[in-house]
Amino acid sequence: MLRVFEGDWYAQVSSGNVEFDDDDAADRLLVKGKELLTQFYHLPPAPVRDSELRFALPLINAATGEVLDVPIRGVIDLVEAEGAVVEFKAPQKAPPMAELPDNVQLTVYSYAYEKLFGMPPKEIRKVSLVRTKTPKIEVQVTGRDAKDYERLFHLGKEVLKGIRTGVFLPNRGNWMCASCEYQADCLAWAGNEEVE
Ligand code: SF4
Repeated sequence: MLRVFEGDWYAQVSSGNVEFDDDDAADRLLVKGKELLTQFYHLPPAPVRDSELRFALPLINAATGEVLDVPIRGVIDLVEAEGAVVEFKAPQKAPPMAELPDNVQLTVYSYAYEKLFGMPPKEIRKVSLVRTKTPKIEVQVTGRDAKDYERLFHLGKEVLKGIRTGVFLPNRGNWMCASCEYQADCLAWAGNEEVE
């Protein structure tokens, strides 16, 4: 497993498409990556039902039957045979527990699992491979219910409404900004046009 990781690592780094903060960062991250994979390898094994599971599903308000005219799409990292939905992250510091109930990505995955398999997931597990000086794996477990899905529907509906009426809210400073094709337009942004 470590040999595959190392081979893939060097292939991607030598492609020239990966940028690092400083000259030593690549070597440091390679060591941390191997350490984290080793720790992950020693976690109790669980049979896998599916990985990289893509979905495009109607977003339905179960309370009213209303359906959005744009499907919700995503990719679930891992679905275990016993019904757990697993999401992997590689953050720089340990994620706070407080953000877990409001994590929209996890709500979407739970919703998708229910639609795909006709039952709620056994649990939703967020596995963070934390890249601190001493790398460690943190596992957080959560769940979702009908109220969360109803809120998700309203969130999706309002986002769609905003897009269709030309509302743009820059979220500068996020990890995608550096390679964003709208960078120039975003920097020149001076408010949205009023829509009658
Ligand atoms: S640069 Fe791109 S990713 Fe960043 S806030 Fe602007 S539009 Fe969003």
